[in-house]
Amino acid sequence: MSGIFISYRRDDAGGYVGRLSKDLEHRLRGDKVFFDIDDIKIGDNFVSAIEEALDECYVFLPIIGKDWLDIEDASGNRRLDYADDFVRLEISTALRRTDVRVIPILAGGASMPGSAQLPEDIKALAQRNALKITNQSWDYDVDKLFNAILQAMGVSQSFGELPGEIDLKYIGEWIERPTISCSLCGAEILGSSENQTELCLICSRRSKWSSNIKKIANPAFIRSAQIPPDESIIQLRQLLSESMLAPDDFKQLELEEELLKLVFVPHWCFRVDADSEYSGKKGTRYTVKEPRKVAKDGEEVVEIASVSRVDWHGVFGSIDETFDFCAGASMSSIKNAHTDFDHEELSVHRTSDYAADSVVMATQVAIEDAFIECKNYINEKIEKIAKEEISGDESEVDKIRTIYRSVTSKLILLPRWHYIASYGNDGYLLTVDGLTGCADGDIPTSKVKAGLAITSAIIIIGIFAFTIYYIFFS
Ligand SMILES: [Zn+2]
Repeated sequence: MSGIFISYRRDDAGGYVGRLSKDLEHRLRGDKVFFDIDDIKIGDNFVSAIEEALDECYVFLPIIGKDWLDIEDASGNRRLDYADDFVRLEISTALRRTDVRVIPILAGGASMPGSAQLPEDIKALAQRNALKITNQSWDYDVDKLFNAILQAMGVSQSFGELPGEIDLKYIGEWIERPTISCSLCGAEILGSSENQTELCLICSRRSKWSSNIKKIANPAFIRSAQIPPDESIIQLRQLLSESMLAPDDFKQLELEEELLKLVFVPHWCFRVDADSEYSGKKGTRYTVKEPRKVAKDGEEVVEIASVSRVDWHGVFGSIDETFDFCAGASMSSIKNAHTDFDHEELSVHRTSDYAADSVVMATQVAIEDAFIECKNYINEKIEKIAKEEISGDESEVDKIRTIYRSVTSKLILLPRWHYIASYGNDGYLLTVDGLTGCADGDIPTSKVKAGLAITSAIIIIGIFAFTIYYIFFS
């Protein structure tokens, strides 16, 4: 998909059309579809044939030559005045479409007809911004047209903007459950007060807990931890040993496996059909030999040097992808994680005692906000695919337009190991992703080490400044 419809009269601007379509084809390398009257079999349903061709197009280019307006048939009548004149039919059909950009092209010094000179159904053509092409400024004119075409491609300027509202369907039930919430960070845990720990498992501070009854989305899936506790402890030890600025006694803390708590964090996950169209540039590198003036022994001499250049060509393309189980964390206090999941590895939650011995957090993020995260993730993926599709020595993606369809959502519980390390009077939260084994943590900084780091940085900058001064000013 993504083509250009060229409309013209052979005996008016036929000479320009061949050159123009060849040049545009060169710039728009890819699956280009060009239409002109030759591609349409003249039959009884001419209008629907034009409609069909326009379905495949972004841009409609009526080429207007010097004779376009007044050209007559054998009996001396103006062709444009016939209701079934094919050029008039093409233009009136294109003007009715809101999804097709109409750019009149004035060829060889022709000027734009006024609306009074045009039949009723194509009067609107006179209001469209026209571009000129002449043989004298050909490359410049075609470049300008090419940019206008790229602009028409990105109908919606912002990345992945939605055409209208999307119905975010949550497949699942809402249930009322008792929860307790931390007075300090607001984290909500499912269950009653016996689930409470002395230090909050999310903010690692001594919290007051309050009990509530909350309406929550019942998780449809639960993903069991793939990383066992002993492995998690190894990951955390490594995290500590690699923390440059942590105090030494913190780095050497004994981490006890029994203090590791499995925490399940709810994630909204979406299944989305994303249909994208993109425009971009493909670059081919080449080298040229060029003369260059250089100074040699106080004299100016000319040398031949190899200079690297890139030849850019415009590219259009489309990508249709289905994203399944693209998730956004549904807790405000936990960083969003995005993963594509494998259906097979999910265990379906059947009873209400899921994750019985673990801590299960309650949903806090609205499904609409989670979907914004999900879209950002999808857009990043699509941009990557587009870059790969463009290939070439260099590639650039200018614009992507994505339509999201058939969006459905489920709630899934993902496992994380939480460890509160007590140090001084405070607790520090260390976590391990239960699926990937990635360790992360809130780690104290040693004042002495931080001081040393700053001092060494100042010394290095000082030496550097002195060297520069010595080289240039002494
Ligand atoms: Zn807390």
